[in-house]
Amino acid sequence: MLSVIIPAYNEEKCIKRAYDAMSSLFAENNIDSEFIFVDDGSHDKTYRVITELSAEKENVTGLHFSRNFGKESAISAGLAAANGDCAVVIDCDLQHPPEKIVEMYRLWEQGYEIVEGIKKERGREKKIHSIGAKVFYSVISRMAGFDMANSSDFKLLDRKVIDVINKMPERGFFRAISYWVGYNKATVEYDVKVRVDGESKWSTRGLVKYAISNISSYSTAPMQVVTALGVVMLVISVIFGIWALIDKIIGRALEGMTTVIIITIFIGSIIMISLGIIGYYIARIYEEIKGRPKYIISSTVKSKKKSDSVSAI
Ligand code: UDP
Ligand code: MG
Repeated sequence: MLSVIIPAYNEEKCIKRAYDAMSSLFAENNIDSEFIFVDDGSHDKTYRVITELSAEKENVTGLHFSRNFGKESAISAGLAAANGDCAVVIDCDLQHPPEKIVEMYRLWEQGYEIVEGIKKERGREKKIHSIGAKVFYSVISRMAGFDMANSSDFKLLDRKVIDVINKMPERGFFRAISYWVGYNKATVEYDVKVRVDGESKWSTRGLVKYAISNISSYSTAPMQVVTALGVVMLVISVIFGIWALIDKIIGRALEGMTTVIIITIFIGSIIMISLGIIGYYIARIYEEIKGRPKYIISSTVKSKKKSDSVSAI
């Protein structure tokens, strides 16, 4: 069975459409499936729509978060609730073309354990977002040691991979974790479609925060940058120190006030930036060490399967 994990935040108009599109597709292709909608603390009728759907259909589970915990948490909750032999994570807004799931599923049947959806076309988005994405992926790809450009959360995972990810306690970045775990991978290219309804939940500020938190959760390289900066500053200060000494010896010592000011400001700012970076990591350690759950599920709905009522008799 294939579990379809769909994070949804204020997507009341998209739920039914997503379900219909996928369930008819799976029926055509003979794929047994269950749908897990994770309502990430929506303020609209998303959860009500999911509840209605699960009453009407046989294979719909709905999880409702007590507040908005973010898409990463929604994916974690979906993976934890999945019962399938494999699971696919897909956006609710149909920007990820559902037909590709069939292609992914067939690859999984051939023995691939992770099938990655790779964006061929990023679709319509703000210029600043696409430039930001480019910078972000080149940084994170370099740190992680594998090319993550154009990767997305649209992925199909085998049961083995789901179990491994479910055991990871950290608040990771789903996209990077699915690379990190290894396994036998295949890719499927897709074009990002235009959102069917509603609007993107991401603001530019939100994306920047997301990028910084993902880089820091994935790599300690920024802290190493601090050390490197320290070494560079040491070399510079030795050079300036020798220079100052020579000035003193030949009696030109009072000159160079500007240099002193510039160096003081420069060192000051480097120290502050460094402390900021280190502080950021300490904050993350603090977050993790508190051991709070990644999400809180406030209610759950599950379809009553026909087979359940039969066995009850
Ligand atoms: N989403 C979520 N929690 C959030 C933000 C988004 O579960 O806090 C879901 C959203 O409902 C959608 C998917 O994540 O199914 C992708 O979000 P969106 O379409 O807003 O992002 P974009 O496609 O613009 O990157
Ligand atoms: Mg979208």
